[in-house]
Amino acid sequence: MENWGCITFYDKVLLTPETNSTNELIQRNARSVAHEVAHMWFGNLVTPKWWDDIWLNEGFARFAEHHILAELRPEYRTWDKYDMQVFAMAIMVDSRPTTHAVQLEVPSADKLMDIFDTISYAKGSVCCRMLASFTADKFYECLKQYMDKFKWSNASSMDLLSVCDEVVGKRFSMLPSEFLTPWLKQPGFPRLEISMEQADDGQYIYKFTQVPVLKGVADAQDFVWPILVNSVS
Ligand SMILES: [Zn+2]
Repeated sequence: MENWGCITFYDKVLLTPETNSTNELIQRNARSVAHEVAHMWFGNLVTPKWWDDIWLNEGFARFAEHHILAELRPEYRTWDKYDMQVFAMAIMVDSRPTTHAVQLEVPSADKLMDIFDTISYAKGSVCCRMLASFTADKFYECLKQYMDKFKWSNASSMDLLSVCDEVVGKRFSMLPSEFLTPWLKQPGFPRLEISMEQADDGQYIYKFTQVPVLKGVADAQDFVWPILVNSVS
């Protein structure tokens, strides 16, 4: 638990024996430690203005726990496991009709436990990773300026994205806020269908179509998400 200046753990997390412990247990406990340390910045130094932005705590801490382990212990292949565990869990839960947007309106504090769930942690961290991809080499400058501007205070998603907009400007014809906001405000995600045709001049033409996966949710079929596509030839 990330108390400000006094992180608390179960002793079995801090005192994981190197012998008689599985690699999975050692790595999971290492991520727990990294997660709580990350909260010293994401949650304590800068605190969300309200519970609807709790992904600024939990999504970023989940992203940071993997990032820290990937830097300190590359042999853990943390990002591979992230894809199999966190990312896979996020899309599984986010494809159900019971899912919700990362930024979910929380009318009163007694409803806050409703959002301490896979969407805030796992999809929130995926949103963080997409923001890192979009802002690329400016990502850490964005976080630094965000922390400097809002330290010892409160911030919202838009506060973070406004800083990103100022630091990065437009990339791929859009601002970071324009890129990420639909992912934060719309539940679900799209399936990307790609078809290929060969034109008369021999050039290949690729057609991308996104299809929302959510069924049974009002307006879900009208949702549109910005998607970054990398290609390798
Ligand atoms: Zn946390």
